[in-house]
Amino acid sequence: MLGNPSVRRRTLLAAAAGIAAAPFAARPAFAANPKVYLDPGHGGTDPGAVANGLQEKALTLNIALQIRNILQANYAVDVRMSRTTDATVSLAQRTDDANAWGATIFVSVHINSGGGTGFESYRYLTSDAATVNLHNALHSRVLSGMRTAGSVTDRGLKTANFHVLRESNMPAVLTENLFIDTVSDANLLKSAAFLTATAQGHANGIAAHLGLSAPPPSFSTIVDNTTAGRFTASANWGTSTFSGQRYGADYRFANPVLASDAAWFKVNIPATANYRVDVWHAADPGYSASAPHVVVTAGGNQTVNLDQRTGGGAWRSLGTFNLAAGDYNAVGVSRWTSAAGYVIADAVRVTRV
Ligand SMILES: [Zn+2]
Repeated sequence: MLGNPSVRRRTLLAAAAGIAAAPFAARPAFAANPKVYLDPGHGGTDPGAVANGLQEKALTLNIALQIRNILQANYAVDVRMSRTTDATVSLAQRTDDANAWGATIFVSVHINSGGGTGFESYRYLTSDAATVNLHNALHSRVLSGMRTAGSVTDRGLKTANFHVLRESNMPAVLTENLFIDTVSDANLLKSAAFLTATAQGHANGIAAHLGLSAPPPSFSTIVDNTTAGRFTASANWGTSTFSGQRYGADYRFANPVLASDAAWFKVNIPATANYRVDVWHAADPGYSASAPHVVVTAGGNQTVNLDQRTGGGAWRSLGTFNLAAGDYNAVGVSRWTSAAGYVIADAVRVTRV
């Protein structure tokens, strides 16, 4: 259910100023987060379309809140909504708020009525390239999302002189998510899984249009010298509980020699990516002034020397390294140093960054 037509303010203002209507606003040099304005249709005293025991205003709020949550959980993006509760908000308030906030894009969520079935979406009668891009990105992905949860007819991409499309100063698209007064559509709209799939489709389309990439999946693992199957050292390495700074039950130590004889920590790296490698050791004035730590990176071994006389009893970063996927000896403590003092091998932590 939709808003009222009138002349498009943006075009008039641009014409009055003697300039072409501004295209898609460029991202500022400091790369601030893109600003996504979500507009759940209707609300408060305006229920929108009502049929089959459903109210449009409740469905649009449900979907839009889920879009917001998905975006905020997965992307570096700022989200503002025309309403987050069952509030009465005029069409002018919605576009004024989005314009004042400086939204990058505007997405309005509605449910159709009047007989029919399926999904359709709208942009303004005349649109710039960024709006067409947003429209294409949203339409295809909302449809794909819906179709993971039900059979949905594609009614196509359309244009219309709707208030929220006309009066918003940024690329704007309005989605009509099935027909509330068609029983088969209403049955889908009664499914929580369908509403979530619809929201996911919107979020996917917004992310695609804005070029957002999801942050890498979080990964962090600790391998201790006592972790079964993940630590190997020759018989030249003793076991100690001497220092209370130890990680876990005990730690391993060896005299420096001019041979590697490294103690190895085996780590199951889930994907080739960048990881921060930290080590934990006990510190003592009698320990190594320069203990070589070997990190097996995708591009070859890198050695980082660590003074183990101080700084013990805490995680110490060796740096960030590109590590290949696989389960292999990824971090070693070598005995090959001319520095005096025991070299210590206690625990390794690998964290995706
Ligand atoms: Zn509506």
